[in-house]
Amino acid sequence: MSEETTQVNTQEQDRYECRSCGYIYEPTKGSSANKVSPGTAFANLPVRWRCPVCGASTTQFVNVGPVEGPSGFKENLGYGFGVNILTPSQKNILIFGALALGFLFFLSLYGLR
Ligand SMILES: [Zn+2]
Repeated sequence: MSEETTQVNTQEQDRYECRSCGYIYEPTKGSSANKVSPGTAFANLPVRWRCPVCGASTTQFVNVGPVEGPSGFKENLGYGFGVNILTPSQKNILIFGALALGFLFFLSLYGLR
């Protein structure tokens, strides 16, 4: 009766950069200055945790992704229902397709009268 809950949370690998001073919190290293043990995800930091360099609160930090990941890429994921994956020409097809459909719908309304 034991369900395996080995869910790997990739968020725990994410580093966070202080917007005030550029300090980067790395979960794998923790923060010895604030007595945060290595392996502590940014989301699991104490509410009172402050940037060890400038004292900014956690709300001043931005997710810069895991060490290996491309910086800033993660923020764009999940937005726009995958439209970001489409090339500009594919976007045009989508837009014109929607316009054509709307025009046909408009015509069909007139056809009914
Ligand atoms: Zn800072």
